[in-house]
Amino acid sequence: MQEALRSRLDSEINNLKQKHMFRQLRVVDGAEKAVCIIDGKEVINLSSNNYLGLTTHPRLMEAATEAIRTHGVGTAAVRTIIGTMDLHQELEERLATFKHTEATLTFQSGFASNQGIIQALMEEGDAIISDELNHASIIDGIRLSKASRHIYKHVDMNDLEAKLKEAQSARTKVIITDGVFSMDGDMTPMPDIVALAEQYGAATYVDDAHASGVLGRNGRGSVDHWDLNGRVDIQVGTFSKAFGSQGGYVAGIQPLRDFLVHRARTMLFSNALPPSVIASCLAAIDVLETEPELIDRLWENTRYFKGALAKLGFDIGSSVTPITPVIAGSGEKAMKLSDRLFEEGVFAQGIGYPTVPEARSRVRTIVTAAHTQENLDTAIGAFEKVGHELGLI
Ligand code: PMP
Repeated sequence: MQEALRSRLDSEINNLKQKHMFRQLRVVDGAEKAVCIIDGKEVINLSSNNYLGLTTHPRLMEAATEAIRTHGVGTAAVRTIIGTMDLHQELEERLATFKHTEATLTFQSGFASNQGIIQALMEEGDAIISDELNHASIIDGIRLSKASRHIYKHVDMNDLEAKLKEAQSARTKVIITDGVFSMDGDMTPMPDIVALAEQYGAATYVDDAHASGVLGRNGRGSVDHWDLNGRVDIQVGTFSKAFGSQGGYVAGIQPLRDFLVHRARTMLFSNALPPSVIASCLAAIDVLETEPELIDRLWENTRYFKGALAKLGFDIGSSVTPITPVIAGSGEKAMKLSDRLFEEGVFAQGIGYPTVPEARSRVRTIVTAAHTQENLDTAIGAFEKVGHELGLI
């Protein structure tokens, strides 16, 4: 072991500890559910992206198990060699129909989708126009691209227009935005984005990680929610949140898929999702199409929980989705709030700088369709108790 490396890492870790930023990874014992065992303690889980409770849905689990029996556990090569199975093709066709697009292409994750697509598509002479609060995978994709970068203020349409003017002479201009922003739960005003894109001759790219399975008819996403089918060029989504499984995808025109098959490095140089995962994603689409009551329940729970926290006097930001931040005011207070909630039997992860500005440090909560009224009432009771204790309400 190189001692210099160990001592450098020790010093970085001490730094984190001094800033109260050092966290041990919490360990979930058994399945990830609305109520689960974390670090040996049974808690109400308000920190997952398991919006519809599909991680343990019997249809998904059964489909995954059956696919292991028929297709084995791995793909054994990258897709362009021999790693594309009939199941990948079936999912991509099914997803294209579901999303009302010509074609789709799956990736190992939402992260791999954004990174692979942006790097491949946006070349020198092109321009990327991106919301300042876009996800890290978009930021990394942009860093890997040789296109010019124009970062506009969060959901600020005047600034977006200024950046479109700045990028006017570029060959291909693409506006990239999250559909739902993961830390604040606010939505991008897609109709305004599309109007500006059409006015300035730009393409549009939405990352629907937190909208897939949550917004739109049967969870088709934010494009469907805003009634913009056919007017947004590139839609990225994940299977790792509301779909309960793992993976990412892009939906758009056929030449986009064909181009990415030849150029997206995350697809070309890394094996595809295994058959069990693909089969569970297919089953998730079945569930979305036949059990819409899950999405209704998600939104009922969201309204109930948000309403109760606001009534207690918490600062819950400007969220309009199941993501509800509870602002604590400093990183230290956010971590304290999270730790005290945990002691009271509620898991809500503390989030501080650099993920959010220090003064907007928070615990982030996400209710799911799988939480019962009793779970939510218990969680609200814990927030009330700890909120008073820490002077937040
Ligand atoms: N985009 C956004 C907006 C996200 O919130 C996330 C997940 N945090 C991702 C992409 C990455 O998705 P995945 O976990 O499937 O890699």
